[in-house]
Parts: sequence; C-alpha cells; structure tokens
Amino acid sequence: MNDKKKLTSLLIIYTGGTIGMVRDPVTRILHPFPFDNIVDEIPELKKTGYQLSSFTFDPPLDSSNINPEVWVKIVAIIEENYHHFDGFVVLHGTDTMAYSASALSFMLENLGKPVIFTGSQLPIGSLRTDAKENLVTAIQIAAALKDCVPVVPEVTVFFQNRLYRGNRTTKHNAEEFKAFQSYNYPYLAETGVHVRFNYSEILSCNHCDDLITHKNLDSNVAILKLYPGISQKVASAMLNVEGLRGLVLETFGAGTAPNEPWFLEVIDKAVKRGMVILNVTQCAEGRVEMDMYETSIELEKRGVISGYDITTEAALTKLMYLLGRYSSNNEIIRDLNKSLRGEITV
Ligand code: ASP
Repeated sequence: MNDKKKLTSLLIIYTGGTIGMVRDPVTRILHPFPFDNIVDEIPELKKTGYQLSSFTFDPPLDSSNINPEVWVKIVAIIEENYHHFDGFVVLHGTDTMAYSASALSFMLENLGKPVIFTGSQLPIGSLRTDAKENLVTAIQIAAALKDCVPVVPEVTVFFQNRLYRGNRTTKHNAEEFKAFQSYNYPYLAETGVHVRFNYSEILSCNHCDDLITHKNLDSNVAILKLYPGISQKVASAMLNVEGLRGLVLETFGAGTAPNEPWFLEVIDKAVKRGMVILNVTQCAEGRVEMDMYETSIELEKRGVISGYDITTEAALTKLMYLLGRYSSNNEIIRDLNKSLRGEITV
C-alpha cells in the first residue's frame, strides 16, 4: 500500500510588478526583471513543504501595462492547470492589482480553489522588502484546507497581514506597506503569529459545478468622474464616444450628480441609445442610494443603474464582463443588480 500523502501543489504565476523589479544602476529607475523560476530565487519557499511550480510572464509587466488581454492570459493559465494544482498565487504589481483581481473574480465562475493575488511595495532583493512575508503567507493561505476543502475558494488579495476579497479592494496607499483596503467588506483573514480566518465572510463553495471561464471582455467602457464645474463639452464628449457601451459614472456622496437640464439630457440620450450607466460613489466607503436626493433620483428616472457599494475597479470590470457576455441590456442590468461574486451588498 502506498501511504505517501500527496503534497499540496500550488502554481505561482509571476506577471511582474515591483516584487520582481531591479533598479537600473545608472538611472536608478525600477524595471521588471525576468525570473526563470521564482522558487529558485527565493530559497525560503522550499521550506513551505508544498510542491511549488511557477509560470513567468515574458517579459514581466509593470502592472500599469496590464490590460484585458493579460487577464485572459492569466485565466487561460489557471484553466489549463486547474486540475493539476490545489491553488494559485498570482504575483502582480500593486498599481492595478485591484482591477485584475476584480476582473478575474468575474471571469472565473464556480471557482473552487484559491486564487490569491499578492505583490510588494519593495523589490524582493531589497533589505527591508515586504515581498517575502506577502508571498510566503499567500502560499500558506492558498494551501489552507478545512475538512479537506480549500478555506478560501475565491479570488483574493493578500497584503500586509490581511486577506481581502479581490473585487472589494482598492489600492489606497502608494508608499506604506499596507497598500490595500477593503472599505465596504470585512477582511477574510488576518495574519500575525496565527492565521485567523473570518470564516463567515468567505464565499463558500457548495457547488459541485465545474469551473467556467469567461474570456470575452468588452473594453468599450469608460469611467467619468464628476466634479463641480464639469462642462457640457466634457460630459457630452465622454457620453458620445463612438461605440461606448458602458460607463461607470463616479458620482458624489450617496450617488448624486448635477440636475441641470443639459446634464440630464446628455444622460437621457446616452441611455436611450443603449448605453449602460452604472452609478458608483466617489467616496471610498458607503453606498449609492439613488432614492435619497432629488439630485440622484433624476438619474434613476433616466435609467442609470445603482452600483450599491461597489468599488470603481469592480464596477468597470463587471461591466466589461457583462457586456462581453450578453448582448441584451436586460440581462446586463439584471446582473448589475445582483451580487455575482460577492462584489456588492444589495
Ligand atoms: N509600478 C508597480 C506595478 O504596479 C508598483 C508595484 O508593483 O507595487 O507594477
């Protein structure tokens, strides 16, 4: 009888980001550095006792260069390797990590294994780096089981002692190690001496369905952030971009916008042409309540959809996903009003 226990196997997907950057000795500018095998670069990883494999993007990307094509590539790697690994850790630049984690949450339906994004504020080779702690703990969380099933079968972000639902995160600090925040949803785990999971907040995987991947994203979307003094010229230029199908309208407070006739008319015409407009608050915390003020109810009357407590990152990527998936606005609007992957509290 073979009583050898199968080792937990994890795939580390290195897309780039500061974690793997080096400083040019002459210009002092940071640029991505291609690891051949990240496990060889960080000997500490061998001590985890897991079977670690890696996939490296060539060239690795500063995350400012991440786009939907890269999301499709990450999803394809996960899909191809889904049955060979127990979990996935995606190393990614912090700048657009919240967008990528949000996008993947929608692109991976019926996810039953952990997909954990992490990165660092300082490169792995620098003395005070936060990379090792982030990476090693992300690996441990990806491997965590309870009653033989993964504890966190979701797309998440692990950074500085906290695990967050990916589509609830925002990068909120450009220099502190604690770079991410999930303003409208509790963290899923906190790590200190122990890893403490917030079990009741984690999406449970009680389905036996197979993973479904959605790789058709529609990039004909935009974000319009309102500001006092926005001109008719600017607003109508945005709302009349040729081919634009979806717009994240970043409004004030609980979802308010100017109720000047010219503004409402631009909105009205766009909705009548078939544009899907999602109302997302500019506030980091709290939610849109479109029936609260006369400056928001006018938007509702014209067919603008409430984003509830969604982040801008999740709103944009949810629109890309739904517009890529459905041609009828009825289905898109139905799903915008639903929590698909825990991205909103309705
Ligand atoms: N510019 C880097 C990136 O997002 C920053 C980082 O990784 O923290 O790729």
